[in-house]
Amino acid sequence: MTGSVIIVGAGHAGFQLAASLRQAGFAERIALINDEGHLPYQRPPLSKAYLKGTGGPETLMFRPEKFYHDNKIELITDRAHAIDRNARKVALASGASLDYGHLVFATGARNRLLDIPNARLDAVRYLRILDESHALRELLAPGMRVVVIGAGFIGLEFAATARAKGLEVDVVELASRVMARAVTAEISEFSQARHAAAGIRIHLGVQVTAIEADGAKVTGVSLSNGTHIPADLVVVGVGVLPNVELAAEAGLPVASGIIVDEHLLTADPNVSAIGDCALYTSKRFGGSLRLESVQNATDHARCVASRLTGK
Ligand SMILES: Cc1cc2nc3c(=O)[nH]c(=O)nc-3n(C[C@H](O)[C@H](O)[C@H](O)COP(=O)(O)OP(=O)(O)OC[C@H]3O[C@@H](n4cnc5c(N)ncnc54)[C@H](O)[C@@H]3O)c2cc1C
Repeated sequence: MTGSVIIVGAGHAGFQLAASLRQAGFAERIALINDEGHLPYQRPPLSKAYLKGTGGPETLMFRPEKFYHDNKIELITDRAHAIDRNARKVALASGASLDYGHLVFATGARNRLLDIPNARLDAVRYLRILDESHALRELLAPGMRVVVIGAGFIGLEFAATARAKGLEVDVVELASRVMARAVTAEISEFSQARHAAAGIRIHLGVQVTAIEADGAKVTGVSLSNGTHIPADLVVVGVGVLPNVELAAEAGLPVASGIIVDEHLLTADPNVSAIGDCALYTSKRFGGSLRLESVQNATDHARCVASRLTGK
């Protein structure tokens, strides 16, 4: 028997696991530890419709509060602080602790922070969580000049949205093409042309070396090729770091993710890891893989729900 399932992290993976377990008839305790001050919500609109200004935060929520109540999913607003694998306990930041039969890390990833001069100023922003998207949507105004650092998915989506809202947009990317980590050269070329046609200036093969400021006010960025781009706002999209520290401190093997097998099980048979934080064995790709996508997170969740309910 599995016993209580405690899920750390209430993003796409954590939410889906709780919902799929109940759907599969799992009758024991499910607790979902949520360290964000909102009901579990979808991230993709944060750089798209929500950023544009469509709808309020409630449009992002997977389910209303009643769903958790009706399905006996305990949504605990807190942060998992430490894991004792021998005693099978999760210590929470509030001082409370939870016993588990099976523990699931669904801790996702966090923004990789820029480490250059003036990178901590207020007009240097990131885009991962609802609060960041909401603050940006309030801030963006026609005519404002924004430099986006990083031409990955998030950087380019932000750039397209900002341009559609009438901002002057420059994107700076170290690689020689946009979205180089994720798509083929043809898709890069197509996407770059679409952004350029919208009036977005893309600077490839260069690095931002410093953010320039007048006191606390951002005035622009300096590039490694000696040029300067004026800016009122800088948005950083230089990738994420998987949240593996809690697992590592609990003595579980981690590398560029929490290491799990093809069934998403860690080295401990009572602990799984799913979604953006999981570095899993993929027979199909013949090696280890960590993916940052909603489909991956929800597939992982369904897979673990099936395993825990004996399917
Ligand atoms: C702006 C944006 C747009 C995106 N657009 C797309 C898209 O169009 N298509 C797509 O497929 N993917 C998209 N993604 C990626 C997708 O959102 C992620 O792959 C997905 O959210 C991963 O889900 P997850 O549950 O693994 O992690 P997350 O969604 O990151 O959730 C993890 C949760 O765990 C919490 N947590 C971490 N540590 C603790 C702790 N110790 N205690 C309690 N809670 C903790 C975190 O705060 C977070 O709430 C986008 C991402 C962003 C940021």
